[in-house]
Amino acid sequence: MKILVVEDEIKTGDYLRQGLTEAGFVVDLARDGLDGLHLAQTDAYDLAILDVMLPGIDGWAVLQGIRRAGKDMPVLFLTARDQVQDRVHGLELGADDYMVKPFAFAELLARVRIHLRRGSKAKESEYLRAADLELDLMRRRVTRAGRRIDLTVKEFALLELLLRRQGEVLPRSLIASQVWDMNFDSDTNVIEVAIKRLRLKIDEDFELKLIRTVRGMGYVLEIAE
Ligand code: CA
Repeated sequence: MKILVVEDEIKTGDYLRQGLTEAGFVVDLARDGLDGLHLAQTDAYDLAILDVMLPGIDGWAVLQGIRRAGKDMPVLFLTARDQVQDRVHGLELGADDYMVKPFAFAELLARVRIHLRRGSKAKESEYLRAADLELDLMRRRVTRAGRRIDLTVKEFALLELLLRRQGEVLPRSLIASQVWDMNFDSDTNVIEVAIKRLRLKIDEDFELKLIRTVRGMGYVLEIAE
C-alpha cells in the first residue's frame, strides 16, 4: 500500500518515511505543499499524512485540492498546531484524523492501519486467497494449508500484488514500480531473487505450484489445471 507524506521538516520527513517503509508501505515524501498536492493528484495513494505549515501552500490547501480532485483516500494531519480550532478546521475540511507533534510513531502507525482498514472494508475483504494460500492484509500474515509462512516486507508486498492480480502476467517493470517504487533497471536482478525466495517459501513444499514464470513476459500467480 502506498502512502504520501507531505512534511517540510527534514528530520521528521525522513523519520516518517523510514518508519513507514519498515512497516511495509511504499512511501512518497514531498517537502512542500505544491509538490505534495501534485503527487496526490497524479499518483494513486491509499492514505496521506499532511503537515499544516508548509512552504508553497499549506496543508489545509493541500487537503482541499485532494478532495477537489475527487480523491477520497484517508488524510491525517500531523502538526504542531494543537489548538482546538485547528483540529476542528482540519476535520471540517474533510481530514480523517488529526495528530499533534511531538507524536509517538507507534500510535501514528496504529491510526494509519485503522484508517486503511476502514477504507478497505468498504471495498474488499481483508484476505486474499488462492487455493490453500491465504494472505491476511491487516494482520500481515501468510499461511498455506494453515501453516504460517514468514515473509520479509518486500516478499509480502510482492505476494500481495501477485494475489491481487491473480491470473494476470505481471511484467517486471510493473512489479518494480509497485513493490520497490523504482523504475525498472534491467541490470538489477532484485525481482528474480525475490521471486525465487518467495517460491521457496510458498511453493517448494507443496505439490500445487502457484507462482509461474512466463518467459520474456513476467510472472503470474494462478491455480494451474
Ligand atoms: Ca512544517
